[in-house]
Parts: sequence; structure tokens; C-alpha cells
Amino acid sequence: HRASVTVLGLGLMGTALAAALLKAGHDTTVWNRTASKTGPLAAQGATPADTAAGAIAASPLVIVCLTTNDNVRGLLEAEADALAGRTVVNLTHGTPAQARELADWAAGHGITYIDGGIMAVPQMIATPAAYILYSGTDEDAYETHGPTLAALADTKWVGKDPGAAALYDLSLLTGMYGMVMGVVQAYALIGSGGVPARDFAPLLKDWVNAMTDGLVPGMAEALDSGQHLTDVSSLAVNQAALPNFLTAFAQQRLRTDLFEPLQALLDRSIDEGHAADGLSRLVTLIKKD
Ligand code: NDP
Repeated sequence: HRASVTVLGLGLMGTALAAALLKAGHDTTVWNRTASKTGPLAAQGATPADTAAGAIAASPLVIVCLTTNDNVRGLLEAEADALAGRTVVNLTHGTPAQARELADWAAGHGITYIDGGIMAVPQMIATPAAYILYSGTDEDAYETHGPTLAALADTKWVGKDPGAAALYDLSLLTGMYGMVMGVVQAYALIGSGGVPARDFAPLLKDWVNAMTDGLVPGMAEALDSGQHLTDVSSLAVNQAALPNFLTAFAQQRLRTDLFEPLQALLDRSIDEGHAADGLSRLVTLIKKD
């Protein structure tokens, strides 16, 4: 299977994407606003294009990966004529609403639009650890180009709502950033006691992994069944324990502000009558009326 693919945007990620396509044997045309970034890819066999329109004309499949979707909108609008009749796969990070707006705009110009969310850093592209989420109104176009896209990473189709890939991507990264906040505070706390981070790292890694293994599927079961009563760890006991954390942070001369919202959330869960429920109940308290 050998396809013609164009990559617009050769930052850290776009460069990794183009290199993966080349490695898989695809005819890869590349363009970047700052032309010098095409050099290393040309050395690997890519065809550099002087203009975005020239790059687009080379392939039925156009992958775009810029900093923001505003940048994408600006670029695609300027190249609407060249793009007509082609498929754009936008792997730029963004919101579901941005993806839907781009999809609507593309449909109005005879352009097939697939949105994507990259669950990887550039170094993970084309390794088994990476995958990319895809969504769009035209599932047939995805089926057509899927074998080519598979050169980048494992592919996961998440539905015909163009915003679905961004929703999955943001939800996965939300879980990651919550973990980041916890790990940041944990290293600060253990460090305040003079323990070297490297000594603590194996304990923290295994603990976070074990908690995730139980908590993530456990919460899903409670949410889907609507049964939040727990025999594991009640909101009341968590609410009672949390001041120990905030007090210890303060006594160790650490900031408390990352964890204050958790105290507020637990307090609210008790105020609203959920003392005997487990942590899954907190999910239902995030929704705004
Ligand atoms: P970089 O900063 O390395 O590259 C940004 C790219 O966007 C450059 O090619 C830049 O061109 C181009 N660009 C920015 N503005 C414009 C514009 N107005 N018109 C044309 N081109 C423009 O970022 P990354 O490659 O790391 O990230 C790209 C996207 O991929 C982002 O949305 C990011 O969130 C997403 N992503 C990145 C990951 C990562 O780990 N790096 C992981 C998952 C997703 P120029 O060279 O001329 O400045």
C-alpha cells in the first residue's frame, strides 16, 4: 500500500508525522510556513513544496498539524480552492466546537474533513504505544485513508460527530493533568521531608498505578449503574481526612491551593447528603445546572 500524502505544518509533531509516512513508504509532500523546516524531511525522501497550494495539489489526503485551530482555519480558508475534493485530516489540538466549525466550513467548500486527536508525544509516533483518535461525518473517507493513517499510530475511530475525537482527547488529558497535579504535590511533600525524589519514585509510581487500576473501572461501574453507595471509602471519611493533607502542606511550608478545590468538592458532597457514597458521586457534582 503506497499513497500520496501531504503534511502541512512541520513543528515537532508534524515532522514526526511526515517522517513516519516516509518510513512506511508513502509519497510524502511537505510544507511549512518557515520553509527551512522541510530540510531534514527532504533528506529522508519527502518532496518539499514552496507553497501550501502546491503541497495540497500533490495528494488526495492532506494532514494538517499547526499550533492552534485558529491557525488551521486561517490556512485552510486561504487554500479552499486547492482543497476542494480532497480529504483534510486535522491533527491540531482543539475543542469539540472548533472541530465542528471546521467540519461545517469544509462541507461548505466541498472538502472532506476528519478531525483527530494525537495520544502521543512526537517520540512515540509510529511506535505501539501511540494512538490517534479520529471522528468525522464521512466514515467512508476514514475507511479509505485509514490504512495510510495507520503509518502514524494505531487508529481509533470514535464516531460521526466531528467533535468526538477532541472530546475523547480532552477527557483523556484531563485525567492526565489531574494525575500531574497530584504527583507535583506528592514530590513537593516528600521533598519537604528531605527524601530524595528518586527514592520515592518507585513507591509513587506503583501506588498511582494500583489506585488507577481500581478506581477508573470502579467509578465507571458506579456511574453506569447509578449506585454510588460504597463499601470501599466513603465521602465522609475522605472529607474528614483531607484537612490532614492541607494542614501538613502548610506546616511543611508548601502551598495548599492545588488541593483546596478538592476539599470544597468533598464539603459540598456532604452538604448535599452524599456522605455514605464513594468518590464516583463527585462526578455527578461537576455538572453545572
Ligand atoms: P510546534 O510549536 O513544534 O509547531 C507548530 C507548527 O505550527 C509549526 O510548523 C508552525 O510553523 C505552525 N504554525 C503556527 N502558526 C501558524 C500559522 N498561523 N500558519 C501556518 N503555520 C503555523 O508544535 P507541535 O508540533 O508540538 O504541536 C502541533 C500540534 O500538535 C498542537 O496543536 C499540539 O497541541 C499538538 N500535539 C502536540 C504534541 C506534542 O507532544 N508536541 C502531542 C499531541 C498533540 P512555523 O515553523 O513557521 O512556526
